[in-house]
Amino acid sequence: MRHFALSLLLAVVVISIATSWLFDHLYQTFTPAQQQHTPQTQLAQLARDIHALIAATDSPHSLLIHWPAQSLLQPQIVPAAAFPLPTALQTKLQANEQIQLETEQHRLFLHRLPNSQDLLVIRSDQAAPHSGLAWWLTGLFYTAVMALILIWLLPFLLRLLRLRRAAQQFGAGDLSQRLQVGSVLYLRDLERDFNHMAERIEHLVQDVKLLSGAMSHELRTPLARIRLGMDTLEETIDPDKRRSYEAKINRDLDTLSRLIDTLLNYARLDQTIHNSSSQPLDLCQLIKKTSAAFETSSLTIDLTLPDTPVQLSGDAFYLSTLLNNLLGNAQKYGRGQVRLELTCQGKHAILAVHDNGMGISPQDAQHIFKPFVRAASAINAQRSGFGLGLALAQRIAQWHQGELSVCDSDALSGACFTLQLPLL
Ligand code: ADP
Repeated sequence: MRHFALSLLLAVVVISIATSWLFDHLYQTFTPAQQQHTPQTQLAQLARDIHALIAATDSPHSLLIHWPAQSLLQPQIVPAAAFPLPTALQTKLQANEQIQLETEQHRLFLHRLPNSQDLLVIRSDQAAPHSGLAWWLTGLFYTAVMALILIWLLPFLLRLLRLRRAAQQFGAGDLSQRLQVGSVLYLRDLERDFNHMAERIEHLVQDVKLLSGAMSHELRTPLARIRLGMDTLEETIDPDKRRSYEAKINRDLDTLSRLIDTLLNYARLDQTIHNSSSQPLDLCQLIKKTSAAFETSSLTIDLTLPDTPVQLSGDAFYLSTLLNNLLGNAQKYGRGQVRLELTCQGKHAILAVHDNGMGISPQDAQHIFKPFVRAASAINAQRSGFGLGLALAQRIAQWHQGELSVCDSDALSGACFTLQLPLL
């Protein structure tokens, strides 16, 4: 992080120096000297004008006698021999060009006077800017630039630092690490994405733990029964008993194969969800189609749907899987009566699935959406199941940016599952 801040500051300083040099250079190159309105070029032009004036008079010496002493430029006529100049400069003078010489205190503009061996030397007392002060000012300017950039960068750097620390702790195993989403605009998405990623990983790790715990229990029980059945079968000669043991083994094998299928479906869900695509669909149609398959003589489904289509974006296959699981549970844990109510509230579609069954206690309601969790009431009532249907339904709802919750049903006195999905 320190390297990043330093390199950024260095880059800003180098870039500003380089660009100012470049523009200065371009200005000098492409603007004729006469049009460059720096104090230096203006003085040179003034000196040229004075030279033209003096060269045009018949008696330049008398003009200079009356020259104001306080004038910015002081002309003098000096014999050329008093100014030994290098040949290159002398050639310039012969070509009537202006020559500029600079000392610590003065700046001199030299011109040739026509028809004379004398030179017109115009002296400006305006000393060249003090280079030490100039360097100080330049240094101060860049320090101020760096300080301002640092102030601007500080919240950004602090948040990046927090993000880095959170990532390190998360990597070290603290899966509860989350970031407070701040106000720095360009980091907000990054922080949200980090939290989203952390949440997903935490869920996945929890699922894996639950899955491995449940695997060892759920798989071992039928496997142990099958092994015992096989041993007993080997020792039994009576054909009736043998048939009964074989039937038991077959039932255990069926349970085992259903469990493995359900486990694989659940495990593959993440990958399948990421590969599937959302399409606009009418939730009313989907509900009608899915619930029709449950209508039997032992189950009555009472449908209350809006008259107009309820459009949302989603995957029809997975949404009907979700509904299948809710209706399947209402059938399994209910007493033959189900009510489905679909309404639209604001930007959401709300689907309530009521049943007249055993209901769910508030303690169980907090856990039944976790994989392999089953309420004691369901186990005691000897209803078959692996505790994965609601976990699957919850995942599908979340993937559709929806929510699935449970409460007591006022209408039918059993359980009421509520699914909330965003409308298109
Ligand atoms: P499964 O039904 O296979 O056990 P689910 O994940 O579908 O798994 O349900 C988890 C648990 O939630 C069930 O074991 C049951 O205890 C409880 N449950 C789900 N639906 C209902 C319902 N409609 N009425 C009462 N309890 C329910």
